[in-house]
Parts: sequence; C-alpha cells; structure tokens
Amino acid sequence: MTRILHRQIHATLRTAVGGKGVELFDRDGRRYIDASGGAAVSCLGHGHPDVIAALHAQADALAYAHTSFFTSDVAEALAERLVADAPAGLDYVYFVSGGSEAVEAALKMARQYFVEVGQPQRARIIARRQSYHGNTLGALAAGGNAWRRAQFKPLLAETHHIDPCYAYRYREAGETEADYGLRAAQALEDKILELGPETVMAFVAEPVVGATAGAVPAVAGYFRRIREICDRYGVLLLLDEVMCGMGRTGTLHACEQDGVVPDLMTVAKGLGGGYQPIGATFLSGRIYEAFAKGSGLFQHGHTYICHPMACAAALAVQEVIARDRLLDNVQAMGAHLARRLGERFGNHPHVGDIRGRGLFMGVELVEDRGSKAAFDPARKLNARIKHAAMDRGLAVYPAGGTIDGIRGDHILLAPPFIIDAATVDTVVERLGEAVDAAI
Ligand code: PLP
Repeated sequence: MTRILHRQIHATLRTAVGGKGVELFDRDGRRYIDASGGAAVSCLGHGHPDVIAALHAQADALAYAHTSFFTSDVAEALAERLVADAPAGLDYVYFVSGGSEAVEAALKMARQYFVEVGQPQRARIIARRQSYHGNTLGALAAGGNAWRRAQFKPLLAETHHIDPCYAYRYREAGETEADYGLRAAQALEDKILELGPETVMAFVAEPVVGATAGAVPAVAGYFRRIREICDRYGVLLLLDEVMCGMGRTGTLHACEQDGVVPDLMTVAKGLGGGYQPIGATFLSGRIYEAFAKGSGLFQHGHTYICHPMACAAALAVQEVIARDRLLDNVQAMGAHLARRLGERFGNHPHVGDIRGRGLFMGVELVEDRGSKAAFDPARKLNARIKHAAMDRGLAVYPAGGTIDGIRGDHILLAPPFIIDAATVDTVVERLGEAVDAAI
C-alpha cells in the first residue's frame, strides 16, 4: 500500500535503502550497479563523504534564506566557480531546483531579452522533434517527444519542430557526415525564413540528445552551422545540457566539443549529482546587460532559487570532480565502455547503433538491422530490458522516443564518473544477458 502517486501506478517498485560508490542497495539486500546514474544524475556515485560533510556544514550554518532578502556565500561561490569554467561569454548564472525549471527560466530570459531590446514581436521557439526539455508546460512545449506532449497539447505554447541531427536515422546513403550536418542545420534556416526571422526568439537543442533517443551526438560541424544561422537572423541559441552537461561527455560542457558558445545554457542533473535538487541557467553578458540596463529585474522566480543546501551540494560535487581529475576518468572509461559495447553488441542482430560521448552512451535496438525497423511498441522491450537488468543487479535507463511515428527502444548508459574498467566490463556483461533475455 502506498499513498504516493507513482509514475507507473501499477508497477511494483523495489525500495532503495542505501548506496555506496557505483552501487545502490534495496531493502531485500540486493545490490545494483547504477549504470545510468538514475537518469545521468549520480555523477559522483553514492555516499561520497566530502559531499555529505559539506551538506552537514551548510545545514549547521544556514539551510535557507529567501533571495528577496539575502544572497549567500555558498551560492555566490558556486556561481563564481561555474562561470569561471563555462565557455567564454556565459558570464552569469541563475540557480533553480532542476532541469525543467532551468529550461523554463531560459525561455523566459529569451523572451524578456527581446522585450527589453525593443523586439517584442520575437516570441517563437524552434526546437527539434527528437528532444526532451522537461515536463513543466514551457519546457514540454519546447520538447519534441510526441508521446509526452500529446494530451497536454492544448496547454502548450506554440513551438516549431525540425528534424534533429541523428545520423543513424537521417543520414542518406553516400552522404558524408559533414554534408549531412550542413543539411540537418539547413532545416533551421528554412524554418526561420518560413516563420519570418523577426518573429523567432530562440532555437533550443540538446548537444547530445538524451532521454528521447539514447545519447545521440550531432555530427561534427552541425552546431557550428547552427550558431552561424542563429547569428545571421538574431535568434538566441539555447543549448540544453541538463543531461549531457557537467562532465558527462568528458568535457565539462558538451558544447565545448562542438566548438560553439550558446547564448543560454541549462544544466542540472550532474550539477548536484543527486545529493540535492539543483539546476542552473547560464546567460550571456549581453542578455544580462539588457536586463540590467533595461527594467533592472528578471521577471521570474521560485521560492527555492539559490537554495544554500543545494548550492553546497553542487559546490562540493564540482570541487571533487576537479580535485580528483574525474573528467580524465570519464574520457578513459568512456572509451573503454564504447569498446566493450562494440565487442558485445557490434554484431548483435537487434542492435542498430551504438553511439555517445564520454560516459554517455546509447544502444539503439531494432527488429531488423537492414531496414532499421523498430520493435513493435506493444512488446515494451525497453521496460523488459530494464527489469531483466535489475534482476541481474544492473540499473539502466530505458530511453525511448517517437520518430516518424515509430517508438524506438534505446538503452542509455551514464554511470558515475568514478567507475573502473572491471565494473564497466560487468555492466556490459550483465546488459548483454538482459538484452538477450528480454528479446
Ligand atoms: N532537459 C533535458 C535535456 C533532460 O534530459 C531533462 C530530464 O531528463 C530535463 C530537461 C528536465 O529535467 P528535470 O527532470 O530535472 O526537470
């Protein structure tokens, strides 16, 4: 008997009671390798003593003070650190409680920016079909996951969706990656021209698509062309790094690898590593100045912005990642994971694609490798793999989205940055057994 409205009302959930390092423990004494860090959240693993100590110290000093009266040293220190390490030009940051809130704030910043600079007709959002930007109404409107949006459509703001950069599905035979990247980016220019450039506010995209497609990076050159197009038409570029950011792909921010700096950037999951709920929106100096020289306020806010406990957790997590040089491990273990996945699934009759960056890898399952046809959604393959994996002591995230009306099955791997090679091997071994058992 539960009094919680769980997401899956009829599912029997196991009860988590503890966690240490890369493992989670349930009430029945079973242990699970947390191979997706929940949903790419637990980047430091569980029970890290330094983060726990920082939380104790912050709780002793100050748990909460409302931001209309006070700032706090811990929030200022976190902002200082994040901005110092962010791509040049992202000079300010705004702290919220999670990814959806970070995207909501970013959309409002984009809108308010154009009001402040005297272009109030700019209100349209362009985003991509295979995308997820959160579940609150503004973020859901931006996202392109048809299934998540369907019943809430009457409540959603107007958004225009173009195809994502998804080489496995959309690159044509004989087309080079570079040509494909330019063609995929051209869809943005076409859409801007169709809508009227003077009405478009922002283009929103995940540098590496997470929840709806299972770690799909764009091909080289795509985002550079996207940046050029945004600049040409005065459209703000909002990169959503809620899932792929904060070191997950081997650099602190995924967009560093694409060679672009957005105007707005959202992060969340790996920021606090699950030790506290926290998200953040980075904004360019240009947007900040427009607010500062204009109305002098950002017309948005929640009770828990800049929460000191959340900021203390994030500061500690980020300090440990830097001190222990964990991004080196993300790169090394990411390469090892990619190799092992290739060995185990490269010739698998139902694995169409293995892709990703760093410790952010996706495996796309297909009924038929030749036609790339997805499995019948009624088979609920994703869910069956999740359960088969849990029975084998492995927690993996079943990513899934609809593309051209087809619901794809993807497995998302995003283990903690502290994982070692032997544990990566165990993850792949257990995943292989789970996939074969479920299919
Ligand atoms: N943006 C992206 C890219 C995400 O992957 C997610 C969550 O999966 C969100 C936004 C929403 O974040 P949250 O669930 O913390 O609200």
